[in-house]
This record gives sequence, C-alpha cells and structure tokens, in this order.
Amino acid sequence: MVGGGQLARMTHEAGIPLGVRFRLLAASPQESAAQAVSDVVLGDHRELETLRSFARGCDVITFDHEHVPTEHLRALQADGVVVRPGPDALVHAQDKGVMRARLDALGVPCPRHRIVRDVADVTAFAAEGASGAEGAGGSGDGSPGGFPVVLKTVRGGYDGKGVWLVRDEAGAAEPFRAGVPVLAEEKVDFVRELAANVVRSPHGQAVAYPVVESIQVDGVCDTVIAPAPDLPAERAVRAQELALRIAEELDVVGHLAVELFETRDGRVLVNELAMRPHNSGHWSQDGAVTSQFANHLRAVLDLPLGDPRPRARWTVMANVLGGDYPDMYAAYLHCMARDPQLKIHMYGKDVKPGRKVGHVNTYGDDLADVRERAAHAAGYLRGTIQE
Ligand code: ADP
Repeated sequence: MVGGGQLARMTHEAGIPLGVRFRLLAASPQESAAQAVSDVVLGDHRELETLRSFARGCDVITFDHEHVPTEHLRALQADGVVVRPGPDALVHAQDKGVMRARLDALGVPCPRHRIVRDVADVTAFAAEGASGAEGAGGSGDGSPGGFPVVLKTVRGGYDGKGVWLVRDEAGAAEPFRAGVPVLAEEKVDFVRELAANVVRSPHGQAVAYPVVESIQVDGVCDTVIAPAPDLPAERAVRAQELALRIAEELDVVGHLAVELFETRDGRVLVNELAMRPHNSGHWSQDGAVTSQFANHLRAVLDLPLGDPRPRARWTVMANVLGGDYPDMYAAYLHCMARDPQLKIHMYGKDVKPGRKVGHVNTYGDDLADVRERAAHAAGYLRGTIQE
C-alpha cells in the first residue's frame, strides 16, 4: 500500500488474520502505518523510480491516498505492475474537474459547476446561477449576484483544504494563487451530507454498505451515523445504486466512497469520490459484518467480498481530533470504565490541534444513547470533556 497514514495502518490490521504480506511505502518511520507494519520502504510517492523499486515483488499495489501522479501509475502498469484501483479509475478521485466531466457524461446529479479561469469568470458563473439557470443540480440559494459560490482546486485538496466558500468577487482571488485549475460550484443548500460506500472487485462483484450520514465541523468529518437516520428507503436505495453504477462505469476496484449532499427537495447530489477506505466507513470496523478495510483488501486481491450488512441497529463513529490531552492512559481508564462497549482506534500520530488522531465506534439500539457515548468518548480523548 502506498501512503503511511491511518488508512494503511487499519488496512494492514485487516490483513493480519488473512496472513496477507503487507508492504508499505511511507514518507517517514513516524507515520501512522509505518509504526505498525514490518515491511516498510521509506520514500517519496511522487518519484517514479521509488514507486518502481517499491512495487518489485508486490502482487498488487493499492493506496491510502490519491496523491500518486496519474502518469506514474500508467508507467507502473506498462511495467506489468497490477495497480488497483487503476489510473483510469483513480484519476476521478484525483482530479475534481475530470470527475465532474465524467459524472455529467453519465447523467449523475451533481451541483451546478464549471472550470473557471479567473475572478471575472467566477463572477460570470455566479451570475448564471442568479439568473435562475437550472444546471445539473440547480439548488443555489438565490442570493444577489449568485454568490456565494464554492471554489475548489481540482487537485490536492483534503479535509476542506483547497475548498473556499466565496461570498463576493473580492474573495474569489485566493484559489487562483496556487496556479492549478479551479472548479466553481454552486453552494448547495443541503440538509445534510451522506456517503454511499461500495466495494467492487476485478471480477465485477460489488457490495453496498448502508448509506451513512456524515457530520462535518469546520470542513472536517466529526461524526458518522450508520445508517443515516430517517433516510427514506427509496432514497437510500437510489444512493446505493448510484454508487454501484459509478463503481462499475469507472471500473473501480476496491472501496469507493461517494460523498453526497441531500437537498431539501429530496435529491442526492454527488460531492466527491474517494477510491480507498474512507472516514465515512470507519464505523464498519465494529458495526458491519465485514469492515471496509477487509473488503478493500479482498477486492484488490480479487477475493470474494464479505457481507457489508450492519451488526447493530445503530453504529456511530466519532473522530478524535488532536487536542492537548497530556495522559492518554488516564483517558483510557475513564473511557473504558464508563463504556465497556466502546471501541477505540488510535493512530499513533503526534497530537496536533485539529489533526485526526483516532476515532471511536459505539453501537446499540438507542440512537441518542449511542451518539452520546461516542461524542463523550471522543471529547474525553481529545481533552475537551473532563468528566
Ligand atoms: P475535500 O477534498 O477537502 O474533502 P470537498 O469537496 O469534500 O473537499 O469539500 C469539503 C466540504 O465543503 C464538504 O464536505 C462540504 O461540507 C463543503 N462543500 C463542498 N462543496 C460544496 C458545495 N458545492 N456546496 C456546499 N458545500 C460544499
């Protein structure tokens, strides 16, 4: 697996019972997965020669992030390396412009969008929205002049970095400073964010997890509820079918997360795609028969996929962000004693404010109780709750 973050750490963990020999390409020995994996190659995933020597002896290469240059993946394929997901699929998770163009061609509902060249172009895009143009999505909130709009760099963003909510022309200059193409989108007036997660194997077998609700705070995922509460069955099935169709049309192998906006009038619009295990699927470690990590591994190894169904009525995942908790042992004493059913997953990362350093999963029949237990544990581990 290329990339030494927590997704690689947890994928490695899922491979242990299967005896999967797991090699990791990490940037440093301190990275989350590098602390846990024995076969670690240190190097830069942007260098083709590093990738080539890493891949030698591997049956298949997969990823914990989407930052390996697409052309390097094509070069590896030309060398005979098995790359899953392949570059023709992965490019849709790497480049938001490519993703939007492809989803348009497939007729998948998306927010109204366009690649913009400069500030004047952003203003023109906003004005098109204000004049009532009902694009593919057409759910702008009708503000004067069409602002606000959302601007995104097409490559390199994560956790809300590379995404700007622009309220007027003056605010539109910043995204162009990076010198990469910029995508403008209507600001969708969504009721909530959902994720439809599916896994597909080279054989073409695919499984769909229950559609989840994903609650973001300051652009970072905070809580995930599985399944999404009060989601009409018809809408959930529509979202699952959409994700399965995207996986098939794009020839995805492995885990595909389709991030969605649910609008007031009951539509689901695609926000973005991730082709790797995803934060919205962490609940599945303790809440599903087969976790996203185990199924991602099965898929890239072309093994039959495992059952994605939930094990509990409700499972809630809450991220633990870096705070300044001085003593993790004391935090464990409290959290484990308070809730013996709590599942804690820490990533071994240095605690930095706002950084994802772990998550907890809780499950049960009473959603309010399950949510409270997850929020309490995550807050306590972060240090924002003292008792
Ligand atoms: P990242 O690559 O950082 O995950 P996203 O495209 O998922 O970027 O955007 C991050 C967050 O910004 C989303 O989860 C959502 O809350 C908000 N956002 C993104 N696009 C839009 C949009 N068109 N309308 C409203 N909110 C948006």
